[in-house]
Amino acid sequence: MRAELELIEAASPTGTARRNGRRYRPAPEPEYAQRSRVDEARIQRAVREILAAIGEDPDREGLLDTPARVARAYGELFAGMRQDAGVHLARQFDQEHAGDDVVMLRSIPFSSMCEHHLLPFTGRAHVAYLPDHGKVTGLSKLARTVDVFARRPQLQERLTGQIADALVEHLDPRGVAVMIEAEHSCLRLRGACKDEAEMVTTAFRGALAHDRELRTEVLGMMRK
Ligand SMILES: [Zn+2]
Repeated sequence: MRAELELIEAASPTGTARRNGRRYRPAPEPEYAQRSRVDEARIQRAVREILAAIGEDPDREGLLDTPARVARAYGELFAGMRQDAGVHLARQFDQEHAGDDVVMLRSIPFSSMCEHHLLPFTGRAHVAYLPDHGKVTGLSKLARTVDVFARRPQLQERLTGQIADALVEHLDPRGVAVMIEAEHSCLRLRGACKDEAEMVTTAFRGALAHDRELRTEVLGMMRK
């Protein structure tokens, strides 16, 4: 439903539209949202091709709307392609006395698409940093940052590093730690592992890369 609403608003970014029978003027979309739009017509053509290639009939009733549905879903799944984490992390405030303390957002749920198979991998991200001179961002901005990088064709290792680097770049903290635990459908569906194996990746920057004791403490908080 969300994707359809976005599509309606996208169709008339400056004009008026109707919602519940009433005319209204949709709010202009932020620039990054406009730039992140996918070429839906092209995806639809490609999905028809895939269906034909596996021996299906793209024109049978059950599959008629599939290319359009996949195109809308991809629009959402890859919305992070041209989004900039800096837009979210620019929202900062000074918090006195926060200088030395760990700020952590644990168990941020995310879903991403493995770039090798275009199959989803889903799990949780734990993000921690050590603010410098009390320079912090809102916790919701950490979750947004995870989303910006997750909603692209991805590798879990790179996703972990990109989140850490974005925090380093925009918050200039003393240290960063990111841990991601995820299940990969490409492993499960293709029978490579029969149990619910989880892949765990970490990225450490700054003081959390050098200070072993501090790192152990933060890891302990993440695994709680
Ligand atoms: Zn894969």
